[in-house]
Amino acid sequence: ASDLARAERLIGEVKDYPAPGILFRDIMPLLADGPALRTTVDALIEPFLGKFDVIAGLEARGFLLASAAAYASGVGLFPIRKAGKLPRPAASVGYELEYGVAEVEAHNDVPQGSRVLLIDDVLATGGTLIAARQLLRELGYEVAGIAVLFEIDGLGGRSALEDPHLHTVFRS
Ligand code: 5GP
Repeated sequence: ASDLARAERLIGEVKDYPAPGILFRDIMPLLADGPALRTTVDALIEPFLGKFDVIAGLEARGFLLASAAAYASGVGLFPIRKAGKLPRPAASVGYELEYGVAEVEAHNDVPQGSRVLLIDDVLATGGTLIAARQLLRELGYEVAGIAVLFEIDGLGGRSALEDPHLHTVFRS
């Protein structure tokens, strides 16, 4: 636990990024530290061990955590991309941003019925993870859990997601 406390202190706060009034949580210093990266990835997947067949990560920072988690647990990696980047026809789910709309997309490269652990770096309003979860279900996968490194309290993400299998390592 003290290792985790040390890792948490490596998460930076950047005021007014990417827009005025937003306090951006910067996980890059945590990723840059070997023991912190390992402890955090272990804590991310720990509640779900043995309960998933593949790990999905959200572009782009979610990829970094998901690939480490997939390697650590010996399962495959399922990248969920932002719109327009995949070479083959892809399933797609749209969602609303504060200004405008976005889409998440994925191929169906793992078998139907696979149990997927969905990973991202930060939970804010929950819009991104709600869309990603929907996408996985539309592709015929079972979402075994949602694991997030940092949960921002007060933006409503946890209640918007309403997911009994949501696990977040750090929050504030
Ligand atoms: P949401 O859809 O929950 O409002 O926003 C979450 C998505 O936006 C995540 O994919 C995450 O990468 C990004 N995001 C939102 N706020 C922050 C933040 O403060 N720090 C980082 N690193 N990512 C954020």
